[in-house]
Amino acid sequence: MNKPYDYLIVGSGIYGAVFAHEAKKKGKRCLVIDKRDHSGGNVYCENIENINVHKYGAHIFHTNDKFIWDYVNSFVEFNRYTNSPLAIFKNELYNLPFNMNTFHQLWKVTTPNEVRAIIQSQIKASGIVNPKNLEEQAIFLVGTDIYYKLIKGYTEKQWGRDAKDLPSFIIKRLPVRFTYDNNYFNDKYQGIPVGGYNKLINGLLDGIEVKLNIDYFDDREKWNNIAEKIVFTGKIDEFYNYQYGLLQYRSLKFEHEVLDTDNYQGNAVVNYTERDIPYTRIIEHKHFEFGNQPKTIITKEFPEEWNQKKEPYYPINDAYNMEIYKKYEALAQHNNNVIFGGRLAEYKYYDMHQVIGSALKKSQSI
Ligand code: FAD
Ligand code: UDP
Repeated sequence: MNKPYDYLIVGSGIYGAVFAHEAKKKGKRCLVIDKRDHSGGNVYCENIENINVHKYGAHIFHTNDKFIWDYVNSFVEFNRYTNSPLAIFKNELYNLPFNMNTFHQLWKVTTPNEVRAIIQSQIKASGIVNPKNLEEQAIFLVGTDIYYKLIKGYTEKQWGRDAKDLPSFIIKRLPVRFTYDNNYFNDKYQGIPVGGYNKLINGLLDGIEVKLNIDYFDDREKWNNIAEKIVFTGKIDEFYNYQYGLLQYRSLKFEHEVLDTDNYQGNAVVNYTERDIPYTRIIEHKHFEFGNQPKTIITKEFPEEWNQKKEPYYPINDAYNMEIYKKYEALAQHNNNVIFGGRLAEYKYYDMHQVIGSALKKSQSI
């Protein structure tokens, strides 16, 4: 007997929403379930005081891929927001990412050649030739002054680990530039959806049945029988009953505050790079959309140790966890009935455009 749906999609985040949209386009019957009380996963926004509040941290869309940019723009218009965060270390203010403005603020030099000479002498003094972890990679890229003021404290509170125990690729996410350019990303396209990310998610899920407040694991049997295939965007280790052990994640706590002022910090993102300040950044949401509301909303982002009661925000892609993940991945590759996708099921430090790319690629097989 035919099952009521072709696809059960577990998770209404970007991956689930893109996959469901593509499947529906091809005439497939889809049901999306999510254990949260809203769709959108971590890009969900809540409108408070007429400001779109990024409930799960600052989300800036960026991509080099014209197809993906046109794809998201077909659901919602994007504004011209360019992310240029600031970093505060002991009351000193620096521009990010590391560029000529940052170098001038640190060393009062003005030319790229002077900067290169300083960084080279610091790398030489460190003796690092072949960086093997995040600390060495960071020093190898920008030298020790920047490492100790802007990287070490932030990184160690963000990840709850010594920077020597973290993989180098994490720090390579940040551009290092010898021009006066504060754009945090190198990508060709960047912006924030006008009216918030819910417009994107609602556009993707238009006409698709979505059931909220449902955890797939509460009645696996029932959900397995409802559709021919499953698209799973939750934690892959949980899907396999943790049989090879628990994958580790980093969690976060968000503290949102409504303030009776129209402009709290003058920028959407300000990072606090000292180890002793418990949060990593303060987000002022109205600046993502150049808002002029009378009040403002800020969010402090506190990194936290993860446990099974907390949200798994960041996969920890170190050697220990990758060895466990490879075993789950091998099981997944032999499972013809389930598609595993997204940040949690692929255990990857994916940005939104990469999740969309991954979902679009997988949906070609529909
Ligand atoms: P998610 O958004 O996590 O969605 C998974 C969904 O599955 C969730 O809604 C969850 O409730 C549901 N689910 C899980 N298990 C079950 C279950 N058992 N039953 C039912 N439902 C379940 N990317 C950028 O491109 N730019 C940024 O600036 C950026 N900033 C970020 C800031 C922070 C603090 C974080 C944490 C991430 C950021 N990202 C950013 C990454 C971005 O959030 C992700 O790439 C993207 O949202 C992942 O989409 P997803 O669908 O894979 O997962
Ligand atoms: N990072 C840092 N100082 C900063 C900002 C970032 O050391 O002021 C490092 C830190 O290790 C962080 C990584 O760069 O985990 C990647 O930063 P990104 O802003 O890409 O992190 P995300 O937005 O994903 O949290």
